[in-house]
Amino acid sequence: MSHDYDIGVIGGGPAGSTAASYLAKAGLSVAVFESKLFPREHVGESLVPATTPVLLDIGAMDKIEAAGFPRKYGAAWTSARADGVDPLGFQVHDHGLGAADVLFNERDQLGVDRDYTFHVDRGKFDLILLKHAESLGAKVFSGVRVREVDFADPGRPVLRIGIGPVTTEVGVRMVVDASGRETMLGRQLKVKVPDPVFNQYAVHSWFGGLDREALANDRNQAEYIFIHFLPISDSWVWQIPITDTITSVGVVTQKARFKENKDDLEGFFWESVGSRPALFDALKNAERVRPFKAEGDYSYGMRKVCDDGMVMIGDAARFVDPIFSSGVSVAMNSARLACADIIAAAEAGDFRADRFAGYVTKLRRGVSNWYEFISIYYRLNILFTAFVQDPRYRIDVLKMLQGDVYDDQEPQALVAMREFVKTVEDDPGHLWHGLLGNLKVSPDSKALF
Ligand SMILES: Cc1cc2nc3c(=O)[nH]c(=O)nc-3n(C[C@H](O)[C@H](O)[C@H](O)COP(=O)(O)OP(=O)(O)OC[C@H]3O[C@@H](n4cnc5c(N)ncnc54)[C@H](O)[C@@H]3O)c2cc1C
Repeated sequence: MSHDYDIGVIGGGPAGSTAASYLAKAGLSVAVFESKLFPREHVGESLVPATTPVLLDIGAMDKIEAAGFPRKYGAAWTSARADGVDPLGFQVHDHGLGAADVLFNERDQLGVDRDYTFHVDRGKFDLILLKHAESLGAKVFSGVRVREVDFADPGRPVLRIGIGPVTTEVGVRMVVDASGRETMLGRQLKVKVPDPVFNQYAVHSWFGGLDREALANDRNQAEYIFIHFLPISDSWVWQIPITDTITSVGVVTQKARFKENKDDLEGFFWESVGSRPALFDALKNAERVRPFKAEGDYSYGMRKVCDDGMVMIGDAARFVDPIFSSGVSVAMNSARLACADIIAAAEAGDFRADRFAGYVTKLRRGVSNWYEFISIYYRLNILFTAFVQDPRYRIDVLKMLQGDVYDDQEPQALVAMREFVKTVEDDPGHLWHGLLGNLKVSPDSKALF
């Protein structure tokens, strides 16, 4: 049986190019099919340190360092003070902002050799990674769309690829779906399930000249990612440095609120940001340099993430709310974990689904830690800030914020947080009972892993 390539990768984002790098390094013939011409814009600009070991592993770190992306040493969260008491349990600073922050160097992380990660212009970052995969021997085809994969012969999946009006066929030994939120195979195989709880939307843009120092509690933190909580249920704003002068800013909110305003992205953005006057004023003094863009329907899972001759990685496998900047690290680490199994499968000449059980277990573990953490955050905000500020749990919370979620232990802080939430839920007289949010995880949404 003839194959054009050992592995066909659908999509050249961080998941696809990381996978292509690992596979090409292992000596497999690999082709990446990317529908866009890079560089292309993409949301998801703030990394966590768990990307570092992968960038080192595939040999791309020097290129990322050379690109001069802003270094991200930590993260900070702010909320508006109300009547002298911070509604989210933050420590209140002199100028009326409640705040919490972490520095990545507070905790050593296996495989991470520097105390910072990066904020990235995804156009540039994704292009560097894709070219890196190419430099390792992967064939990259850009501007071509995989329309369908024919699995009729499980030993030789066939990708049907559109090049303008023409369709061509490419036979491979197995397929890696890294098509991001387009979820190419999830939709084709009808295994995609919307998350029943998280249904957030985002509106975002880039601003030139935003005074990041004025918005920070401490000038040294001006280059951190800032998450500004809005006094609107389940809503927040990201502030991510892209260059010395450009800042990415996005509002995340519940779908229902967004829908009321969907024809007016700009009005919706300003109305939301207006609930934090200092942020609103700083943004009004800055210059918007990109059109507003919306991202919707972005939380879902798959009933299965692998099958005979196929695995899904990155956003093509699962996506949850981006509050803790986990997406690119999940994309790159899922590629790392999947490729270990794919390389072993290629050596054995057997690409049946059982071969990818190790990947599925580790992906589930990592993503379920993220999911639990995010769920607890939305259910009881105050607990997140209380735990960040509590010396007994701070390092364990930081472990999750670093993206260090794939080892075999559930972080102790998660166990303690879950028990705490239950105590508050079960006791209507509890001081924090009235602070419980509306988003409550059900067994259905947990079962998506
Ligand atoms: C509002 C929002 C904010 C976010 N903020 C962050 C953040 O701060 N930090 C973070 O780490 N993550 C963040 N994310 C998540 C992040 O964007 C993703 O997790 C990450 O881009 C996933 O990488 P990927 O390679 O899986 O998919 P992608 O980066 O989406 O790449 C998929 C590629 O596949 C291509 N493609 C799709 N279909 C086909 C096809 N049929 N044929 C050929 N090519 C195809 C696409 O053109 C695309 O280039 C955010 C997400 C959202 C929605």
